[in-house]
Amino acid sequence: MKLFTLSNTRRAVQIIAFFLLVYTSIFLTTGIDIEGLPFVSVPKDVVRPEWYAPEKGYTEVFDTYLPIKSCRFIADENRAFRACFMHFANESIVWNSPPEEWIPHLLLFLFAALIFARAWCGWICPLGFISESAFWIRKKLGFKERKIPEKIKQYIPAFKYGFLSFVFLLSLLVILPIGLSAFQGEFSIVNCATCPARTIFPLFAGKFSLDFSFSNPVYFLFSIIGIAFLLVFISSFFFSRPWCRICPSGALLSLLNPVSFLRKEKEKEKCTSCGICERICPMDNTTIQEKKGDSINTGNCIRCFRCVEHCPEEDCLKVKFFGKTIYKSKYKEKTESLLDSTKK
Ligand code: SF4
Ligand code: SF4
Ligand code: SF4
Repeated sequence: MKLFTLSNTRRAVQIIAFFLLVYTSIFLTTGIDIEGLPFVSVPKDVVRPEWYAPEKGYTEVFDTYLPIKSCRFIADENRAFRACFMHFANESIVWNSPPEEWIPHLLLFLFAALIFARAWCGWICPLGFISESAFWIRKKLGFKERKIPEKIKQYIPAFKYGFLSFVFLLSLLVILPIGLSAFQGEFSIVNCATCPARTIFPLFAGKFSLDFSFSNPVYFLFSIIGIAFLLVFISSFFFSRPWCRICPSGALLSLLNPVSFLRKEKEKEKCTSCGICERICPMDNTTIQEKKGDSINTGNCIRCFRCVEHCPEEDCLKVKFFGKTIYKSKYKEKTESLLDSTKK
């Protein structure tokens, strides 16, 4: 059995990212010194270095936002990153932040998203990793995968972009002169109040909190959406990455997927329509159905490259980075065991 496969490399990157994003935060908050581990834990009462931004009353190792769920609810006060970019965009619009405060973070987001697009989802996001791990555990326990019904699937893109627009629309409404400014407090948390990361991440610090408020009609609406999304996330045990199909952070990255510098390419004449790429895809993308002129770099592709790794035709699928091929499919005999290994 080969050790250095693309799947194993991706899993290793996901595990490292998970520990850096989730556990660095938790150690920073608790101040636990764990000798021998490569984490710098900082007791709460020590003077922190400048880059911890102590004047804000809390600390971040990196004073910015990531395109994926580098969530502020991972830890109470101290975090590896401030939060996710969606939280930043939601708050910056609602509180009408001056351009010098949001332009650098927006540029950083565009830079990161243009280069890697949804590879952030497939390789780095800890919430995506938890979702994928739950689905993997299901397989190991011998439970069958459940498929999202086609009737529902066809409405997912509209729902995904619809919800993303809903978050931006509510954020914009309070700064327009239409009498909604009284809702600044409520609308500034629409992204976080509806996101499952808020409940899931604290579990890794041993904290269980269902932080839903029903104290006014706006919070009531957000809480109902939040509970529904949490249930969608929990269904990761049976469905492959269900939340990632509607997540607003993923939706925002999706917009840049077709033009990112890390992309796939397909030599259509080499494709035998075997269907392996579709079977193996965690997002149920239909690479097999691409017709001439169709792009395989759709918004729904999380750039995990499992399709490239498992495609049995030499050079049929390729991974390109700034136009250079960095990985490609290799010929494999289509045996029963190959088909078996591509079952989800
Ligand atoms: S879609 Fe959202 S939750 Fe899923 S991996 Fe991407 S950012 Fe993370
Ligand atoms: S796995 Fe490769 S050969 Fe098979 S359908 Fe997909 S792209 Fe075509
Ligand atoms: S199409 Fe390929 S790279 Fe994209 S999500 Fe599916 S398996 Fe991963």
